[in-house]
Amino acid sequence: MKMAFPHMGNAYIPLRSLVENLGAEPVVPDRPHRGTLERGLLHAPEFACLPFKVTLGDCLNALDKGADTLAMVSGMWACRFGYYGRVQHMILRDLGYEFQSVLFGGERPADIWNKLKPVVGWGAPRKAAGALSVFRAKAAAVEEVEARLRELRPREVRKGESDRLASRLLRRLDEADTLRKVRMLRGEAREALAEVRCREETDDILRIRLVGELYVLLEPALNLDLVRRLGSDFRIEVQPVLSTYKWLLCSLWLDPRLKVEAVKARRLTRPYLPYVLGGEEHMTVSGTLTARREGFDGVIHAYPLTCMPENICRTLLPKICRERDVPLLSLCFDEHTSPVGVTTRLEAFIDLLRSRRLSREGKRGSGAYAVPAAATAPWD
Ligand code: SF4
Repeated sequence: MKMAFPHMGNAYIPLRSLVENLGAEPVVPDRPHRGTLERGLLHAPEFACLPFKVTLGDCLNALDKGADTLAMVSGMWACRFGYYGRVQHMILRDLGYEFQSVLFGGERPADIWNKLKPVVGWGAPRKAAGALSVFRAKAAAVEEVEARLRELRPREVRKGESDRLASRLLRRLDEADTLRKVRMLRGEAREALAEVRCREETDDILRIRLVGELYVLLEPALNLDLVRRLGSDFRIEVQPVLSTYKWLLCSLWLDPRLKVEAVKARRLTRPYLPYVLGGEEHMTVSGTLTARREGFDGVIHAYPLTCMPENICRTLLPKICRERDVPLLSLCFDEHTSPVGVTTRLEAFIDLLRSRRLSREGKRGSGAYAVPAAATAPWD
């Protein structure tokens, strides 16, 4: 079985090892780029949300690379995510591709087991336990590297040093095939990232909370590399409310703390949103509600055009931010989003945040903040 799954940030690192350790051959398509989106756009319904189009392009790339099985997770049917796998696979079959579908959460567990039985075999419980422990360790290592990277980017002396180091470490992590190697690499990564030389004066660093739809928050190809650019070019410490680790481990019940966090978020947002909409709406609203208290200077809400849960949040967040006196920037992404337009809006928003910070510190005055030169250049 040659099994493929769509890209989403660095989720491919733990997912590749999971597929491999269960006995199938993983087929990982290239990182999404403009060409991936264009392939998806050609065959997707026009008003489908952006992640649908990119993941459809990913599936096409994976099939061209020789995949014979496409795996996809399904949401809980409240938003379109519940239909992603079925509709995408229907489109691909109409295009003439032949493959087997495995829809986690969209099919009966017995049907999924029947498809996986030939590769997993009868040693399934032992194999699955081993595969899941490597999967969990890799997801935790990715989480730690990503979190450290977000802290280092605005502080590093040599711009891009921590990114270069992290990409080497993540490549080695992807290749590690045993639990012992993963643990060793995690320790090595911690030490290597601690060596990155940082500026001494860091009081001027602003903190921004990033909320919104999961795929847009985690996949740089969709958000125009928002997290890296905010850290490296604008010298901002960004904290997204979601991460690869949270998404992967929460849905598989592999970390009970994440379930507790999700329950707390739902409880906190109940006065605003008493329903489940099927996306990340509770994390979006709770992340905004607590932003000021947790020391963030502003909130960026990033979501795809036509995303049902996040458009509902879009109507709630301005009032919440007004009540809590926290600035908000909404960024809506689709295939027509202009990188230059996004950069301009970020510059204006960050200028506002800096002015607020300066006036709070009693240093009111114009010209105290100069937009970094690199930030004025269009997206790569
Ligand atoms: S959460 Fe939004 S973008 Fe994601 S599948 Fe649902 S409607 Fe589409």
